[in-house]
Amino acid sequence: MSETSTDPYAAAASFNAGTYGTGIHRVKAAGLLDAIRRLLQAAGSAAEEARIVADHLVEANLRGHDSHGVGMLAMYMPAIAAGFLKPNRHAVVDGQSGPFLSVSGGSGYGQVIAREAMELAIAQARRDGLVALSLRDTHHIGRVGSYGEQCSDAGLVAMAFVNVASRPMVAPYSGLQPRLGTNPICIAVPATSSTPALILDFATSAVAVGKCRVAMGKGQEMAPGLLLDAEGNGTRDPKVMFDDPSGALLPLGGVSGGHKGFGLALMCDVLAGALASAMPGTPPHQGRERVMNNMFAVIFDPARGGNAQWAADLDDLVAYVRDTPAAPGSDAILMPGEPERRTRAQRLADGIPLDSATLAMLNSLGQERGVAVADLLG
Ligand code: NAD
Repeated sequence: MSETSTDPYAAAASFNAGTYGTGIHRVKAAGLLDAIRRLLQAAGSAAEEARIVADHLVEANLRGHDSHGVGMLAMYMPAIAAGFLKPNRHAVVDGQSGPFLSVSGGSGYGQVIAREAMELAIAQARRDGLVALSLRDTHHIGRVGSYGEQCSDAGLVAMAFVNVASRPMVAPYSGLQPRLGTNPICIAVPATSSTPALILDFATSAVAVGKCRVAMGKGQEMAPGLLLDAEGNGTRDPKVMFDDPSGALLPLGGVSGGHKGFGLALMCDVLAGALASAMPGTPPHQGRERVMNNMFAVIFDPARGGNAQWAADLDDLVAYVRDTPAAPGSDAILMPGEPERRTRAQRLADGIPLDSATLAMLNSLGQERGVAVADLLG
């Protein structure tokens, strides 16, 4: 891993692609899953943990969110070595009072801890109708939509607010320096007999920082209006996010509408950071080499929310919203979660596109740990 950047967000993209050139390589999900699972086990995870984390990461790639896919190993492996990420930890219940459930993760893999915390919350919401979950002290939880899907698969609604305690990356509206994380939000609603589950899941920054890492790995520029350099000037160079001092992402909504993304990002830090976890994204909780997540989520049974006919009304609403001509260049009105399902079907059939830097990083990890990554990827 000697060629990687010390910045965990940049690590995969800064890898020397070497023999892999600059192209995109399609790999089958099954081989990738096997390779990631073995790499995680070689890095100290028990078999079940390795399976859960590998499944989460490959699923993020399958659903089109390469920013939160297998490239994350470049961040996780140095975090383990530095003691920031602790394998084989499990969710611990810190407290329970009425609808409130507090869980902590001992700096374990977020994919394991958040999943276990959600299992506890789902059981409580099924029993009581509603739970307010505070989750603290987990390493990066990855694609938040996966926990929304966990709830919607259980027939429950979830509203999740997540903060990132790492280094600040998002400028407040009309500010020139980063003060907030990319603090994601997820709202998930279960499927009815005619409407698939709605999974709204996005960063409250104009773009997720992982997308800058992916663009850097591909040698591409970002779209205009997303980034500021360290002096506060607009730029399209994704590298500014990984320089030290680094630049800033604009909040969701960008130059003109950024007050809305800024407000959402701030409220994620208020709810998940200041209120739920005592770990807001302020300097005492920041660190360039680690990425901690905290979450505040409300999970409830829609059948107990006041409308026994909620499913029929949801179907009517979705049908009405869809019933508009699509704009030129669009083939249909999509509901949140639909693009990910489409991409998943396509990538299962055609393979997952991995950039050369990510492939080189995985092979290097394999060489260090005795895992024949290239053979497993075929
Ligand atoms: P994004 O900008 O791709 O937006 C995704 C959301 O928009 C999804 O709900 C998707 O279904 C919906 N969507 C996309 N295209 C659509 C269309 N044409 N019509 C209707 N809906 C559409 O997501 P992002 O902001 O880049 O975030 C990517 C991932 O990064 C998310 O899974 C998020 O949870 C994750 N993330 C995690 C962290 C962390 O610290 N753990 C931080 C930031 C982001």
